[in-house]
Amino acid sequence: MSTPHPVITIDGPAASGKSSIARLVAQRLGFTYVNTGNMYRAVTWAVLQAGVDPQDAEAVRSATSSILIESPVVEGQTQVCIAGHSLTDADLNSDPVNRAVSFIARLNEVRERLVAEQRVLVLLGPLVMEGRDIGSVVFPQSPHKIYIDASEEVRASRRGAQGHADQIAERDRLDKQRKNSPLIVPAGATVIDNSYITLDQAVEQVIAALKL
Ligand code: C5P
Repeated sequence: MSTPHPVITIDGPAASGKSSIARLVAQRLGFTYVNTGNMYRAVTWAVLQAGVDPQDAEAVRSATSSILIESPVVEGQTQVCIAGHSLTDADLNSDPVNRAVSFIARLNEVRERLVAEQRVLVLLGPLVMEGRDIGSVVFPQSPHKIYIDASEEVRASRRGAQGHADQIAERDRLDKQRKNSPLIVPAGATVIDNSYITLDQAVEQVIAALKL
């Protein structure tokens, strides 16, 4: 199934630099930037606000079944709104959300909802969409697939420099081992390791790899 507009898929592990790279690639190309991690983070924020234990799958399913999530575009990138409430970076990247998000993201019902929302976004126009399963599950037919990697030491030090407490090795373990849509290098993806290159060099390598 082809899409009405091109979608550049960018996947990779936690703190690999994929958000910074994806945002700049989208700006360079004039495409809309979609950070799907923020959608999983928004649902997690709502679960925590409701006082639900993120590891209690049944309670999470019932708390999330009626959540209204919207993705309005502001200045070239999608924002996340839950029940009309626009979430801030501080809401989305809090320590409790970092700890809980991979437990919420492994539930089939949550993934089905968010994957459906993500597929609809292609009606907006050309996209750069980043996450864990964009090239493998959300838009597997896209010919523009990138996988961004960096060494575990580099990723841990980048996340530490952002001032976040984030157990990235634990999140990666959960994201790679889950049954539904685990983090993999999608078939046909170009792998770019940005451990020892600059952000600008990584953006150049992504643009050079695309056959637009
Ligand atoms: O990209 P970010 O690190 O903000 O993503 C937060 C979490 O959301 C990931 O660790 C993963 O559990 C989940 N996620 C996912 N599928 C995506 C994007 C994010 O499961 N497409």
